[in-house]
Amino acid sequence: MSTTNGNGTNWSPEKSAEMYGINNWGNGYFRVNPQGRVQITPQGSNGPSVDLYELTQDLLDRGIRVPIMIRFQDIIKSRVELMHSCFQKAFADHNYKGNYCGVYPIKVNQQRHLVQEIVRFGKDLRLGLECGSKPELLVVLAMANNSDGVIICNGFKDQEYIETAILSQKLGRNTIIVVDRKEELALIINAAKKFNARPRIGFRAKLYTQGAGKWVDSSGARSKFGLTAVEIVDGVETLRKENMLDCLELLHYHIGSQVPNISSIKSSLKEGARFYSELIKMGAGLKYIDVGGGLGVDYDGSGKTDSSINYSEQEYANDVVSTLQAMCDEKGIPHPNIVTECGRALVAHHSVLVFNVMGKNELHRETPPRPAIKGDPNIMQDLQYIYEKVNKDNINECFNDLLVAKQETLQLFTYGVLSLEQRAWCESMYFTIATKMSLIAKKTPDCEDIVAKLDDELCDTYFCNFSVFQSVPDSWAVGQLFPVMPIHQLNEEPNHSATLADLTCDSDGKIEKFIDVENGSYRKTIQVHHVEEGKPYYMGIFLTGAYQEILGDLHNLFGDTDAVHVSLSEAGYTIDHYVPGDTVTEVLTYVQFDRAGMVDSVRQAIEEGIQRGTIAKQEARLLIKHYEEGLSGYTYLEEAE
Ligand SMILES: *Cc1c(COP(=O)(O)O)cnc(C)c1O
Repeated sequence: MSTTNGNGTNWSPEKSAEMYGINNWGNGYFRVNPQGRVQITPQGSNGPSVDLYELTQDLLDRGIRVPIMIRFQDIIKSRVELMHSCFQKAFADHNYKGNYCGVYPIKVNQQRHLVQEIVRFGKDLRLGLECGSKPELLVVLAMANNSDGVIICNGFKDQEYIETAILSQKLGRNTIIVVDRKEELALIINAAKKFNARPRIGFRAKLYTQGAGKWVDSSGARSKFGLTAVEIVDGVETLRKENMLDCLELLHYHIGSQVPNISSIKSSLKEGARFYSELIKMGAGLKYIDVGGGLGVDYDGSGKTDSSINYSEQEYANDVVSTLQAMCDEKGIPHPNIVTECGRALVAHHSVLVFNVMGKNELHRETPPRPAIKGDPNIMQDLQYIYEKVNKDNINECFNDLLVAKQETLQLFTYGVLSLEQRAWCESMYFTIATKMSLIAKKTPDCEDIVAKLDDELCDTYFCNFSVFQSVPDSWAVGQLFPVMPIHQLNEEPNHSATLADLTCDSDGKIEKFIDVENGSYRKTIQVHHVEEGKPYYMGIFLTGAYQEILGDLHNLFGDTDAVHVSLSEAGYTIDHYVPGDTVTEVLTYVQFDRAGMVDSVRQAIEEGIQRGTIAKQEARLLIKHYEEGLSGYTYLEEAE
């Protein structure tokens, strides 16, 4: 279905799909439907589906507010099953004898409903959990109910952490304590004696092989965690002396998150496998190799950038299995059970943030200001001249003149030569010329440079109802790319380019990194539709399920957004949980404000105002109503009644 839009060009939902790259990063879960909206198929492309725009409308009708985080639990199920089946296939292909024991590292997203769902979906698949701190251990002990799944205890540990982990073994939990720092081994041995227990121990090796991408420092000689070769040899000797070498069941390493290329994964595996076989030779009772996390997510579909990957989940599983099989068969040792700690790859796809655009700052200008007249400053005459004369033959020269005039305008204003009105005229004319020039440049050969510069200069800013710091902190913190696109109107050509600004007062609170489908890298702007006053325009940020929720912070006191869990069946969709976002009062308690005290202090000031006669009683009533409702309300912008 294609429509003729205002520019007389043909546009279609397929063209939108291509422009935003949704079929490259959508992984079969997201696509554009013939009505020009984002369609979600959480169980894969043949399963039931939902129109994201209609779903959003339905949620709004129920009083759920934008920005909304929508979680699709079916996507998690599909990811958990995918990982399992990739390993089963690799086992069959390589005649591998060990088991696959995936664990979900809860630090990636600890939301209770989500962890519960993962545990439920992994029940028959031997899925376990991983914790990286004492609080996470407490969560894991409460949640893990799968006697086949292992519990991996990583992170820095104190005596309490270690004792809790060892005692949990007495409840029948498959808890394995990984030694991350050499000091932890003595604590483990002491606790074992205290409780007369045979603890199950893992060693985390510091590999020389490094990952790649943004989290490259998780491995290498100077990485924070793990034991060096020297410390591992010492640790083995200590265990031997204690007659506990059989307790050393697991070898672990982790080369960092979002590893973009398969070659880093392969080389770390080779080094890790060597550690494994050497430890067996030294007499350790190893049964598991834990290859950590790092399996990446393709956020942009390019296969080329740090936000992408150049391998599939199946290739990942094949490489892990074939490397271990080859090494073990060569050395004549049994195939170990394989633990993976993939977090991002399990949960990134499952959540989408839907937000509305509240307004925009548009710099395009088609109509010039009044013509410059005799007596106006020279700079105004110059700009008028450029505006009238620019054409395809002199465009380079005019472009340079325009840049000079822009500089000059600022200087003349600062030195007091131009009045504020004159400066305003110059700015209007500047943007009128830039708009005209951009149209000419687009039709003139060899002007790509000018087009690009003018596009950056003229791009709109769309003001969006969300906080980058709360909802996509990695976009700000490490420049990670997330797919962003409008969720409707995709049968019309989006012919404005814009950057997206959030609600915070922070100049970093914006998204300026978008998928560039043509060049496989990034663009500073995204194509969007013209937004009309009073007509809602909704956009989505996709693949936000990993890390973003828990890393999100309260910058400018914007709190958690409303969240819903949606599951699909042939009969339609069901809202399984609604988790209301933070109220203003809740956010304020994090910074030690208490509601009653605040209301009391404002009430007193109001009383005094009434006494002095500076505020009428009706106004006082309205003010206190707004104040109290504001405290109970959403931290984001709400529609006027
Ligand atoms: C963070 C972390 C993981 C998860 O990594 P992903 O890239 O999300 O798969 C796994 N293991 C350890 C030790 C970690 O610190």
